[in-house]
Amino acid sequence: MLARTRSPSIAILVVAGGRGSRAGEGLPKQYRTLAGRTVLARTLRAMRAGAPDASLKVVIHPDDRELYAQCVAELDVADRAALSEAALGGATRQESVSNGLEAIAREGAPEIVLIHDAARPFADPALIARAIEAARAHGAAVPGVPLADTVKEIDANGFVVATPDRARLRAVQTPQSFRFDLIVAAHRAAAAGGREYTDDAMIAEAAGHAVHVFPGDAANFKLTTPEDFARAMDQLKQPSLASLPDVRTGQGYDVHAFAEGDKVWLGGVAIPHSHALAGHSDADVLMHAITDAVLGAIAEGDIGAHFPPSDPQWKGAASSIFLAHACKLVRDRGGMIAHIDATVVCEAPKVGPHRDAIRESLARIMGMDVGRVAIKATTTEKLGFTGRREGIAALAIATVRLPE
Ligand code: MG
Repeated sequence: MLARTRSPSIAILVVAGGRGSRAGEGLPKQYRTLAGRTVLARTLRAMRAGAPDASLKVVIHPDDRELYAQCVAELDVADRAALSEAALGGATRQESVSNGLEAIAREGAPEIVLIHDAARPFADPALIARAIEAARAHGAAVPGVPLADTVKEIDANGFVVATPDRARLRAVQTPQSFRFDLIVAAHRAAAAGGREYTDDAMIAEAAGHAVHVFPGDAANFKLTTPEDFARAMDQLKQPSLASLPDVRTGQGYDVHAFAEGDKVWLGGVAIPHSHALAGHSDADVLMHAITDAVLGAIAEGDIGAHFPPSDPQWKGAASSIFLAHACKLVRDRGGMIAHIDATVVCEAPKVGPHRDAIRESLARIMGMDVGRVAIKATTTEKLGFTGRREGIAALAIATVRLPE
């Protein structure tokens, strides 16, 4: 995953360390799903589309390693190859950006760096090209859009103090673009001065650099509120399930034996138990059954055909990689997964207390509403191998809808 071997002249730093959950669902917004893909995966795809030769680095919150790994699993191989190891964020956005810049500096300083918000997935290639060109021409540059509303400056009592000329105002977006050495030095000076700044342009300004404003793009808005997510869905013009007439059903079945250990993975959730499940990957028997059901619905073979157990790269792998790949194959055909129904068969551990956590985990990996993911559990009344507590079996059915 490291891009150390080449020294691209453009690096893109995507800042995804925020905790913002104003958009609902309790998840940081950059990890929320937008029409089947996480916001962060969409943002990374957009940045690569605009700058295919650039290296990518993401700054993540230390608590989000698992969410980030799932997001990376959604990416195409080429996009993943452009990603260097994630940097960990700090207490503020400024500190997070600084950590990311220093990590890039250690890997080999590029000529230009673009600093971009993870929650802006709609930066188009023309905007990214303008950002790169502006940084080369001016050293420091930010995209700005004219304001639709008149702006008032007010005092502490809420009275208007001034009405700035709207024609001279711009609302500033990202990617903000800089000569790398310039912004690294400016960030170091800002940190040494102990002042907090709201964006990277301000840090360049504080260091005495003229910052150029180039045309932004109204479509490149930042996802913050639930209304922003609704607007994003409109902008994506996603098909609805009802518009996909070709309804397919796939089934999956899997068994893993118990081995020594203290937890089993079911649907991406670690459940404490007296044993683990044996297997080449993390042995998530439920996720394997669901992956096979999705592959079955689109007649794409089975999990072993896509991820051969003989291939050492899948040893100990998180099974979310397999499931995310199957879901991507559905999306690549313009399809959507309408419903998953799965049953876990074992005497122990008890699945019921973990049911909703498992449903939420699967819904996130699959980019589906949790209301479309059903998980059931049963014993076999002590009969057979599951009854003798020798292992766990899982069955799954996937309903997939494809375009005509
Ligand atoms: Mg398996």
